[in-house]
Amino acid sequence: MTTGPTIGLFGGSFDPPHLGHVALARQARDQLALDEVRWLPAGEPWQKAGRVVAAAADRVAMVALAIAGEHGMVLDERETRRAGPSYTIDTVDDLRAECPGAALVLVVGQDQYAGLPTWHRWRDLVDAVTLAVAGRAGEAPRPAPELAARPHRVVVLDLPPVPVSSTAVRAAAAAGADLQALVGPAVAGYIARRGLYRAPSPA
Ligand code: ATP
Repeated sequence: MTTGPTIGLFGGSFDPPHLGHVALARQARDQLALDEVRWLPAGEPWQKAGRVVAAAADRVAMVALAIAGEHGMVLDERETRRAGPSYTIDTVDDLRAECPGAALVLVVGQDQYAGLPTWHRWRDLVDAVTLAVAGRAGEAPRPAPELAARPHRVVVLDLPPVPVSSTAVRAAAAAGADLQALVGPAVAGYIARRGLYRAPSPA
């Protein structure tokens, strides 16, 4: 039995945050009655070494804009302050020490779920959290064989497809397109003011 809050952990490079992220976080919050969803921008996303375009300070500022006014959404900057790669298990270890009674729910899209057995200390991670997984790009939630063979707690999120990715947003920005329909007006305004993603970027 849990005695404390149920906290959703939502990590990503958020380069930039887009409406797919917001829809996923809302669905997790509402479907699982989470007390909060913590957005955790990665400092050095080890999965995207050399491919992150915007500085951590800009990605943090954009997440703040993306979740402004959203109930139950919290920005947690700890991974951008940590030296070295951003490993989710380190954040989970921190939170277990900070909030010992909390239940932790790790919110991911199918691409991340499929790659989970490549994550640092992934077995410790899946033992510590419940996974909340959304389908993505036409792919329903499905674990990699290594994960399927290990008992783990998983909930499938009932999220209608949201066909957007940060890669597509960066490409649209480089092409000079209007970004509001992909990221919302506040993040689109920030990208324009800061001149982010003007040059074509690596996929
Ligand atoms: P990039 O295109 O740069 O790889 P991204 O759009 O995948 O970026 P991330 O910041 O890497 O964005 O994603 C953070 C989390 O949000 C991941 O778990 C990812 O699977 C999930 N996610 C992102 N976009 C969607 C979407 N459209 N539908 C469902 N899940 C999504």
